[in-house]
Amino acid sequence: MQFSSALLETAVNEFAKLPGIGKKTALRMVLHLLKQEASDVQHFSDVVAKMRTEIRFCHRCHNVADADICSICANSMRKQEIICVVENIRDVIALESTQQYSGTYHVLGGVISPLDGIGPSQLNIDTLIHRTQKEETCEVIFALSPTIQGDTTIYYIQKKLPANIKVTTIARGIAFGGELEYADEMTLARSLQNRLPVDSYVSSK
Ligand SMILES: [Zn+2]
Repeated sequence: MQFSSALLETAVNEFAKLPGIGKKTALRMVLHLLKQEASDVQHFSDVVAKMRTEIRFCHRCHNVADADICSICANSMRKQEIICVVENIRDVIALESTQQYSGTYHVLGGVISPLDGIGPSQLNIDTLIHRTQKEETCEVIFALSPTIQGDTTIYYIQKKLPANIKVTTIARGIAFGGELEYADEMTLARSLQNRLPVDSYVSSK
């Protein structure tokens, strides 16, 4: 790509660093901004900079927050004794979007993956164990990726949790709208293991 302005080129290169954004899309975004009022573009950049500098992470669950404690941990209507363990903040947003969960979360920051050099000490595991010991936790729900790394992480944490806590994992099986014949053997086998009475399935819809 040839640019007649170094300022334009620098801006395009910065946008192209964003995930999923190629040079062409970056150029379209920059040219769009160029057509806006300067004050609007200033506001845009202020919002991004403010988000980056002022955002905090919840001291209790490591979710994003505007204060020391996130809005989920601070909400007395949520079941504070139930903790859903997830890999990252995107998972919290995905689960919250279902509007089916009223407990709290714990964001690990990833899963144990020795090949990628990620061990338990690099994840928020100690704070989870500490939480379950200090708080009156009654259930820990694992909502991690159904991979070897996810399973390894569940196994590792489960052994460290107080024995009186109920430990569950979200169901694994055939995706809604998926076709049986295209499901891999592991998924099919797990779907059979985790089969549900039709009544409870239909009524939960
Ligand atoms: Zn929190």
